[in-house]
Amino acid sequence: MNYKIALIPGDGIGPEVVAETVKVLNKINEKYSHQFEYKKVLAGGCAIDETGSCLPQETIDICKASDAVLLGAVGGWKWDTLPGDQRPERALLGLRKELGLFANLRPAILFDELADACPLKPEIVQGGLDIVVVRELTGGIYFGEKGFKETDLGPAAYDVEQYAEEEVRRIALVAFDMAMKRNKKVTSVDKANVLESSRLWRRVVAEVSKDYPKVTLDNLYIDNATMQMVKNPKQFDVIVTSNIFGDILSDEASMITGSIGMLPSASLAKGNFGMYEPVHGSAPDIAGQNKSNPMAAVLSAAMMLRYTFGLSDEADAIEAAVKKVLAGGYRTPDIYTEGMKAIGTAEAGDLIANAI
Ligand code: NAD
Repeated sequence: MNYKIALIPGDGIGPEVVAETVKVLNKINEKYSHQFEYKKVLAGGCAIDETGSCLPQETIDICKASDAVLLGAVGGWKWDTLPGDQRPERALLGLRKELGLFANLRPAILFDELADACPLKPEIVQGGLDIVVVRELTGGIYFGEKGFKETDLGPAAYDVEQYAEEEVRRIALVAFDMAMKRNKKVTSVDKANVLESSRLWRRVVAEVSKDYPKVTLDNLYIDNATMQMVKNPKQFDVIVTSNIFGDILSDEASMITGSIGMLPSASLAKGNFGMYEPVHGSAPDIAGQNKSNPMAAVLSAAMMLRYTFGLSDEADAIEAAVKKVLAGGYRTPDIYTEGMKAIGTAEAGDLIANAI
């Protein structure tokens, strides 16, 4: 099969980790006889330098004409003094909007080999962790009405949390579909004891759940969910929640898995289209030094194969290859511990590709 992939290497370590990911994808190409066709486009700081815009129209057009987008990272010290609305990171908001990416998927997987990096007690995470946080990405308080007004207490500012039933329904469908491919449990997180928008959220999620009799649905308040995440994270399979709660909860879930260099993510639109990127940023402190861990980007590509292309055997092969490299004791500096074999970015890519 032929698949069109728009590549956005971006800034800092972005181009390094994307290059290693392409190495791994090419190995999949070879082994499974697919045709991945790459188109490299600009976004972020490098796009500002070359075109004056962090998200050129050509990038948007090529992304829209592709089957999926693979992004490294954007941003860096060089552009830190630009005003907020002209910064490289604006490209991410622009891509989400232009590509209609409404669901953000952040798996938090604790690899047995990296259990030492987890800040929780070993008995809490024994046997590893495998959670996916499904976060609504284009609605809620981040995009609601906002402004300033005079009040009895003087000048005030406000941001409105608002959800339409349809927005909740489409993100709930993503979560339940995902749970069907996993351990068949959805935990919906809200603040329905206080917020009207959360009561609507809870009602719509319950309606959607009726079409998924095999999936167990739990509801948790956000305050309890953040506690449960450190007390008993193994109870979770798929967590579905609003934009702001998901922002917080997905960071907490990633922290318990250790290094940021290991965390992939996906942002999905209607249909199968998606943008895939590591959770980490452009890490300007280590860029160009062969020190970055490409595994988050490589695992993001595995998510692309699974969710956009429907190639689950190939996705499994990439994940198994990453595990094999870790089991062999190979570690980039961010996950290195004494007694392990120290490797750089390029070597990590080679080892993963060879393990496929
Ligand atoms: P960061 O994720 O880039 O780096 C945080 C720390 O983690 C640094 O010490 C870095 O060296 C380390 N790190 C990150 N990725 C790593 C990897 N793959 N391997 C090894 N170590 C890794 O976050 P930051 O320092 O807050 O941000 C740097 C720049 O990236 C900023 O301009 C920020 O706005 C941008 N950023 C972009 C994205 C994105 O493109 N999606 C996300 C977050 C931050």
